[in-house]
Amino acid sequence: MTTEKIDTLVVGAGQAGVAMSEHLSRNGIAHLVLEKDRIAERWRTGRWDSLVVNGPAWHDRFPGLGFDDADPESFPAKDRVARYFEQYAEKFEAPIRCGVEVLKAERNRDTPGFIVETSQGVIECDNIVAATGAFQIPVMPDLVPERPGLTQMHSIDYRNPGQLADGAVLVVGAGSSGVQIAEELVRAGRRVYLSVGPHDRPPRVYRGRDYCWWLGVLGLWDIPAPRPGTEHVTIAVSGADGGHTVDFRDLARQGITLVGRTTACEDGVLTFSDDLARNIAQGDANYLSVLDAADAWVARNGADLPEEPEARIFAADPECVTNPLAFLDLAEAGITTIIWATGYRRDYSWMKVDAFDEKGEPRHQRGVSTEPGVYFLGLPWQSRRGSTFIWGVWHDARHVADQIAIQRSYRDYVGPARSSRQTA
Ligand SMILES: Cc1cc2nc3c(=O)[nH]c(=O)nc-3n(C[C@H](O)[C@H](O)[C@H](O)COP(=O)(O)OP(=O)(O)OC[C@H]3O[C@@H](n4cnc5c(N)ncnc54)[C@H](O)[C@@H]3O)c2cc1C
Repeated sequence: MTTEKIDTLVVGAGQAGVAMSEHLSRNGIAHLVLEKDRIAERWRTGRWDSLVVNGPAWHDRFPGLGFDDADPESFPAKDRVARYFEQYAEKFEAPIRCGVEVLKAERNRDTPGFIVETSQGVIECDNIVAATGAFQIPVMPDLVPERPGLTQMHSIDYRNPGQLADGAVLVVGAGSSGVQIAEELVRAGRRVYLSVGPHDRPPRVYRGRDYCWWLGVLGLWDIPAPRPGTEHVTIAVSGADGGHTVDFRDLARQGITLVGRTTACEDGVLTFSDDLARNIAQGDANYLSVLDAADAWVARNGADLPEEPEARIFAADPECVTNPLAFLDLAEAGITTIIWATGYRRDYSWMKVDAFDEKGEPRHQRGVSTEPGVYFLGLPWQSRRGSTFIWGVWHDARHVADQIAIQRSYRDYVGPARSSRQTA
């Protein structure tokens, strides 16, 4: 059997793999993208039915193609996003092979490059780019023991309210997924509890501009990685129903009972941390900090954007925040489903290379690994806050492709034979 050879192998054809392919093509680097399912599979099957992008169509896209059939201020649905990436890949004839899983990649012993086992044979390559994303394996804390009449699922498996057994629902996690799912459920007539941890919650629109625009002009998408050990704070935004600011008081007004972080469960009784008011206050502070920075930007730039003092007025804290639940008996509350909107972790188990630290995290600088020939894409804070977002990964891919091209040009250089001794 012959072994296929390629300069650069990209693993994964989500947005990261598609962007990577575009930039490798621009640099003239021969490459192949392997995708175990279909292009942008996560947007097709890894999201709930009603999911739309969190940023408007003019923003959540790559530079080379717009959502031409959509209002730029609208929020395209998940299937439209998947089609977008498919169209994008077609546009430059990206060499993507679907239905091929990479099982193992390891360094060659005596020659440069890597030997890669796939579900359809072996490939040799000089470089390998892991574009398998930051959202690989759902994280579900092992807090609530299994019990009859209770279903626990991760948000990746949530589809719609009709899928759940009758009864109340506890949603754990108040990032974009948790708040959007909780809101959809309460609107469908469910009794909903929402467990709220620390979060940022930028205004959807302020002074007529979307928060994506504000974060852009304020340079906040570009802030560099937080210091190691800084706690990750989730961001609560929503493009659902045309987009609106996530305001936890408003969620409570709609009937959702807010509770603090879920910390334990014993004999069917959940315990919540007493951090609810603090988490809400920190979210408010984050919201107000964006307003303050936006106002300062308007003043400094003499921009003609209408003032919006009412954006600073909050409703009174609801009873569930001023007098929060410390415990909740699952049976008494009639909870039949817990949805854990608690995030994801990465999976590089197929990469048998020396590119990870003791915690299994990639060792890299802007995606360029400490292990020669290994590259990463789509990592949180790979170069900046925007790195895992649609537009951000495109810019990171350009840097990674440039680095591959630079290495290639060193290796390809054939100069005159020279001695290290100086000649007279
Ligand atoms: C619920 C949710 C909503 C989001 N909404 C937005 C949003 O509105 N706007 C935004 O900018 N960002 C959003 N994001 C963040 C980010 O844009 C997406 O998670 C996006 O899917 C990440 O793209 P990716 O290419 O890095 O990874 P993925 O989309 O996960 O793609 C990785 C690909 O690699 C393939 N793969 C994995 N392992 C292998 C293997 N061994 N061999 C071959 N193929 C493999 C997978 O099948 C997959 O197709 C959202 C994230 C989540 C979880």
